[in-house]
Amino acid sequence: MTDCLFCRIVAGEIPATVVYETPATLAFRDISPKAPVHVLVIPKQHHADVAALGAADPALAGEVLASVAAVAEKEGLLEGGFRVVFNTGSAVGQTVFHAHAHVLGGRTYGDL
Ligand code: 5GP
Ligand code: ZN
Repeated sequence: MTDCLFCRIVAGEIPATVVYETPATLAFRDISPKAPVHVLVIPKQHHADVAALGAADPALAGEVLASVAAVAEKEGLLEGGFRVVFNTGSAVGQTVFHAHAHVLGGRTYGDL
């Protein structure tokens, strides 16, 4: 059994509110939303962060981005815009070491 939280969500061992799924990716609502829409998009296969994912499997990284686009469309974010964040490394706040895109919408954001 894995101790990776998001692998356990993929395996169905931990419940999540799934909003979109493809054979290779899963999108579910963040348990502690920071915006009116806050969805996490992950590859089902374990990679520690987006840098590892992009280096190991660029095609899968592309599938994650395609799912980000599908989630944005499904959640009605295309008109108002949305922000996509991949925290990479504990120094910038990554807490779950399974690559994930935060899709954030429904409010305004400051400059980066
Ligand atoms: P990070 O800080 O690694 O970029 O993002 C991890 C995210 O996972 C956080 O926004 C946190 O709220 C979310 N999270 C942590 N545990 C769970 C959980 O059990 N279920 C869901 N749906 N989200 C979680
Ligand atoms: Zn994992």
